[in-house]
Parts: sequence; C-alpha cells; structure tokens
Amino acid sequence: MEDEALANDWLACHQCDALYVHPQLNDGQRAECGRCGATLFERKVNSIERTFALSVAGLILLIPAIMLPIMGITLAGQYQEASLLDAITQLIVKGYFMVATLVFMFTIAVPTVKLIGALIVFAVLTYQAAPVLGGFLFALFILLVVIGKNQLEILEQ
Ligand SMILES: [Zn+2]
Repeated sequence: MEDEALANDWLACHQCDALYVHPQLNDGQRAECGRCGATLFERKVNSIERTFALSVAGLILLIPAIMLPIMGITLAGQYQEASLLDAITQLIVKGYFMVATLVFMFTIAVPTVKLIGALIVFAVLTYQAAPVLGGFLFALFILLVVIGKNQLEILEQ
C-alpha cells in the first residue's frame, strides 16, 4: 500500500524514462522533461467542458460522415457515389459478411460508443452520479483508444 502511494508520486518521461516527482500543476500549465523537452504532464483549461463540446460535435458530425458519399467513381462515362452505409450494404450483398462486420465495427460502432462513453463520463464527473459506471466507461474508453491505435499500426504495415 505504501509502495503504491510512493509509485504514484513519481512520473517517468515517455521519451527518455527520466524520473520526476509528480508535479502539482494549475489549469493551463504543463511540465516538460528537463532532459529531452517532452511534455510530461499537462492540465488543460476547462478540459471537462471541452470534452463535452467535442463529443457532442463528434456525434453530430458522425451522421453526415456515415450518410454522405465518401468516394465517387467514373467508369465508362458514368459517375457513381457511395457512402459508408452503401459500402457496408454492398459488402453484405456480395457475401462478405465478415468484412462488412469489421467495417461497421471500426467505422460506425466503435466511434459511436467512444463518443457516447465520453458524454457519460462527462455527466458522471459533472453531476457526481454513478462513479462506478463512470470508472467502467472510462476504462472502456481507454481500451477502445488502445484498440484503435493497434488497428492503425496494423493498417500501416
Ligand atoms: Zn525526457
């Protein structure tokens, strides 16, 4: 227990692993590594309100991102556009159910769950309601961020 409290007082640089005593910062301040200059820790101004605003904007913009055409093809003089939903529907029609499921999961379901989860975490932090649910959703949000980063690394290879 004492070791855990001691471990929480220290912060390692993400770039060079230099150890520092965890800084006490006010809103708008950030701590930088003295060795490499990387940002160790940052407290953004109105971070909860900004998260709420960006989550709402993200949910609103998710609708046109799904419904509006994302690509157009001219073939033999005919122009055809397709939205994300059109692409998923065509994958299902052609029998590529697994690919359609993956496209749906990573382009519609996961972003929607992340944005709704961020809104619920905001509500929990603001109104102090259901902290266990907020903790669970925050852990789920971090898990989805890690999965998203791994997915990008796979696509880059
Ligand atoms: Zn460093």
